[in-house]
Amino acid sequence: MPNLADAELRRALANRVRFYNELGIYDFYRRDAAVLADSTAEELDPSLNLALREPEMREEMPARKSAAVAAVVEDGVETLAPKPEQGVKDPAAALRIIREDLGDCTRCKLHKQGRKQIVFGVGNPRAELMFVGEGPGADEDVQGEPFVGRAGQLLNNMIKAMGLRREEVYIANVVKCRPPGNRTPERDECETCSPFLMRQIAAIKPKVLVALGAVAAKNLLAMNASMAELRGRFYDFLPAGARATEAWPGARLAVTYHPAFLLRDPRQKGEAWKDLQMVMKYLGLEPPKKAAD
Ligand code: SF4
Repeated sequence: MPNLADAELRRALANRVRFYNELGIYDFYRRDAAVLADSTAEELDPSLNLALREPEMREEMPARKSAAVAAVVEDGVETLAPKPEQGVKDPAAALRIIREDLGDCTRCKLHKQGRKQIVFGVGNPRAELMFVGEGPGADEDVQGEPFVGRAGQLLNNMIKAMGLRREEVYIANVVKCRPPGNRTPERDECETCSPFLMRQIAAIKPKVLVALGAVAAKNLLAMNASMAELRGRFYDFLPAGARATEAWPGARLAVTYHPAFLLRDPRQKGEAWKDLQMVMKYLGLEPPKKAAD
């Protein structure tokens, strides 16, 4: 005989998962699968929040575990809650789906702090190299494209120096709306917006990700360290919720200075170039040859 408490619990669980899906969150992690598996409905009921509440997801996300267990249980049938782009092979189509899912986003307070538009990301959906910055500035907010102001010009030069064109890479930010006065995006804003970035990365499947500046690096790596500590090495990176496959085991992530910082302190350009050379070596890129006189 069906247990009423079970049915109610399943409905509540399904509603909660749907609520998080609407926020753009699809990946949930079990802290202790054995405990959950053995729990009775009565044990789970008061701790429903324990299984799904946001603070726990936040604690787990830094580990970048790939074993997502987003199970929706409704009417006795257990199904996974897939991301809308799941199974879409064409990265351009997957990105379009993610953009549609983002919609006219009001998920964090940046939507009401003067943004003109959402700056989703730009570039080659099959890029081997992806750059991730912090958030849009004034020019980006107006044009709807990341890195189009002075810092964008410098980023273009950096890309060119690597032997690539801007159209060949993909460029995005941790947050997609301009923080007022170009302030640093706050933690809750980054945590709300970054699941969409993770999905973009999982759709594009770049070989290398370059985090531009400390905010991007700390958010992608979930590490609180100085730029001196973060730079100069590769990290293995798998977006939260993505599964490593033979075709794409994840990206290698390098950290370098944000172009806006380099505009303020050009002496650090040599250091940034060292970071980019490390990436070029990994990707087998040669700097463009100078035209003969
Ligand atoms: S920053 Fe991201 S989460 Fe916040 S309103 Fe903009 S798109 Fe939505």
